[in-house]
Amino acid sequence: MTLNELARQTAVQFQQTFHREPHWIAAAPGRVNVIGEHTDYNDGFVLPMAIDRYTVIAAAPNGSSQVTLHSGAAQSPASLDLAQPLKPGPKGYWANYPVGVIAGFVARGLKPAGFDAVISSTVPLGGGLSSSAALEVAAATLLEVITGQKLDPVEKALLCQKAEHDYAGMPCGIMDQFISVMGKENHLLLLDCRSRQPELVPMTDPSVALLITNTNVKHELTGGGYAQRRAQCEQAAKTLGVRSLRDATEDMLLQARGRMDETVFRRARHVIGEIKRTVLAAREVRASNWPVAGQLMYASHASLRDDYQVSCDELDVVVDIGRAIGPQGGVLGCRMTGGGFGGCAVALVRADHVDAISKRVAAEYEQRAKIKPTLFVSRPAAGALVLKP
Ligand code: ADP
Ligand code: MG
Repeated sequence: MTLNELARQTAVQFQQTFHREPHWIAAAPGRVNVIGEHTDYNDGFVLPMAIDRYTVIAAAPNGSSQVTLHSGAAQSPASLDLAQPLKPGPKGYWANYPVGVIAGFVARGLKPAGFDAVISSTVPLGGGLSSSAALEVAAATLLEVITGQKLDPVEKALLCQKAEHDYAGMPCGIMDQFISVMGKENHLLLLDCRSRQPELVPMTDPSVALLITNTNVKHELTGGGYAQRRAQCEQAAKTLGVRSLRDATEDMLLQARGRMDETVFRRARHVIGEIKRTVLAAREVRASNWPVAGQLMYASHASLRDDYQVSCDELDVVVDIGRAIGPQGGVLGCRMTGGGFGGCAVALVRADHVDAISKRVAAEYEQRAKIKPTLFVSRPAAGALVLKP
């Protein structure tokens, strides 16, 4: 479904729910990270793109201090009273995301009048494509229109991140909200997680696209795998005498090998290598050098699998299939994306081979993993936008 179709459908749902026309329609996309995994909390770089999947909010004023939110993806609607102090609901409650965003506007003295809203989305929920950021950023974009106050894009992304931290209880990094706010059609976003400096990287060559394969598995992490890796990175930085692994080089790491645990060494080797690969990949994308960009993706996967140890059989199978199809079949590179242990893989593919590649990946993955995957293809899409001001 295109964004315009989704917006029209959401407007119809608003009409059916509230028996009047929506005044405003705002949208924000999900995202996929092309390269730069487990680099964000090491002050490194990430290279995400907005995908052609959106969360849309249609809304209209209701002349009260109440806000009513309906979502096609939620069991029941949410309502809140803007005359009362806002606070998060129970953990896992879907409306925490938009309520946290409203709270961010209120904290800036931008209190909206009451409104009714209907939310719908083509971003799969909990599928690793950041439906949560899409919901926050769509809500923030709506609030900008309602209050007539356009925020600075960085401030807007940080407001949404704070909503996820404080209202949804999820201590996420800055990538998802930045790309959902700042994504641009035909561009990736090279984001420096230390300075928070975003840089749009043109990917204008229409002959390539990104194919996303959801393995539809999520392995439970035992022993706090994520927290453990963060601690290992901090330990490596300490041994190397740097503030974070962003400031370390491969040479420094090799010289310190004898002074650190082998596992810590390998975790650091991934992060230092991945930060370098991410910056290189941005350069190759800019140059439309797809074979080299693709090789960097394969190298990223190998490093995540062997050194960082956050892949799983299902993700490895997808990458294996990509390699077997190879450049002659139109696959230039493939890697796991997201935190790991399941979720999605992303492949750089020739656009004119997409159908054949998708069929083959789906069939071989199902045969080998005994699970049906979900696939879709996207070019770099536009970030948040207002469809009806
Ligand atoms: P991801 O961001 O990878 O999709 P998360 O667990 O971070 O997964 O966020 C998913 C949660 O966000 C859902 O469980 C739900 O609470 C909320 N959410 C996201 N999109 C919507 C939506 N369109 N309607 C209602 N809730 C949503
Ligand atoms: Mg999320």
